[in-house]
Amino acid sequence: NDHREVVDPNTGLKYSYVDSGKYNGSKVKATFVTLARNSDITELLDSIRSVEDRFNKKFQYDWVFLNDEEFTNDFKNTVASMISGNVKFGLIPAEHWSYPEWIDQDRAAQVRADMRAKKIIYGHSESYRHMCRFESGFFYRHKLMDEYEYYWRVEPGVKIYCDIDYDIFKFMKDNDKKYGFTISLREYEATIETLWKSVHEFNKENPQYLHKNNMMKFISDDKGESYNLCHFWSNFEVASLDLWRSEAYSKFFDHLDHAGGFFYERWGDAPVHSIAAALFLDKKQIHHFNDVGYYHVPFHSCPVSNEFRQKHKCVCSPGDDFTWKSYSCTTQFYNVNNLKKPDDWQNFT
Ligand code: GDP
Ligand code: MN
Repeated sequence: NDHREVVDPNTGLKYSYVDSGKYNGSKVKATFVTLARNSDITELLDSIRSVEDRFNKKFQYDWVFLNDEEFTNDFKNTVASMISGNVKFGLIPAEHWSYPEWIDQDRAAQVRADMRAKKIIYGHSESYRHMCRFESGFFYRHKLMDEYEYYWRVEPGVKIYCDIDYDIFKFMKDNDKKYGFTISLREYEATIETLWKSVHEFNKENPQYLHKNNMMKFISDDKGESYNLCHFWSNFEVASLDLWRSEAYSKFFDHLDHAGGFFYERWGDAPVHSIAAALFLDKKQIHHFNDVGYYHVPFHSCPVSNEFRQKHKCVCSPGDDFTWKSYSCTTQFYNVNNLKKPDDWQNFT
């Protein structure tokens, strides 16, 4: 049976490939994780089908589903029938999806009304704020996640465009990667007006958590004075749970949570995770998956090399690729880390 361990001579990164059939190499403690509502079922089936066909049928990793309400039997039976690994369903404890006692709920309601009038995306939504706070500070504390070291976050309505022929989780572990992304972009400033101020306060009080080889240059163009709004798009994340379980991140999240911006503004989990990863990790531990074709409305990531797309049976168009466009931050990521861009990347800007 086949699996091959290969070191890429250009990057020094190690991969465990499976050419056909099922992977029989060693695996890591890892799971897919999906937060969803019962009503997300149809869009979710698309995501699962695509992840299973392109990756998981070869590897059979587990899949954890979390919800702030009980999943229906119909939801559970339908998704379980499509997944090759073990499937688990968890109810989110109320204290992970509610207002902390220090939040003034009238003020929060006023903010939602103001943001509705200003037509700020999801600005009116209370549940969206609980979702962002949960994804920022709680999903990794759910008891179903305890046994895992790495996770891959999957949302309803996403697509994987190309075959993935190596164990992504093992790749993370073997190469000491802690955070992996496909798409990066700039945040809507109106949703995070005081986020950087809170980050700044935290860094001043806790300079010991800043990694000496951090990636501040990715998130700030003026040495940390201001936030340039760059973040990894967290609807796709392959990451180490230890990153979020760390003392640095626990205190960081508590600091942000007390500042109140999840409710008094509309802080997203994407900038929160991204800022933490950029500051607390060695920049070598953050990885761009340039080989995972991916879609979440409205952005596509499509490998621009024709040879790569044919070999991996991609079903996307490189003309739609967002990676090298100006609103993306991925060019900056490559520059900051001195990484080699694809040969003809400039044809796709
Ligand atoms: P967007 O990607 O920012 O447009 O937000 P989504 O609507 O995709 O929500 C992000 C993730 O959180 C998805 O996996 C949703 O299924 C999930 N989600 C959003 N709101 C809720 C909610 O109120 N309850 C539950 N259980 N999941 C939610
Ligand atoms: Mn989404």
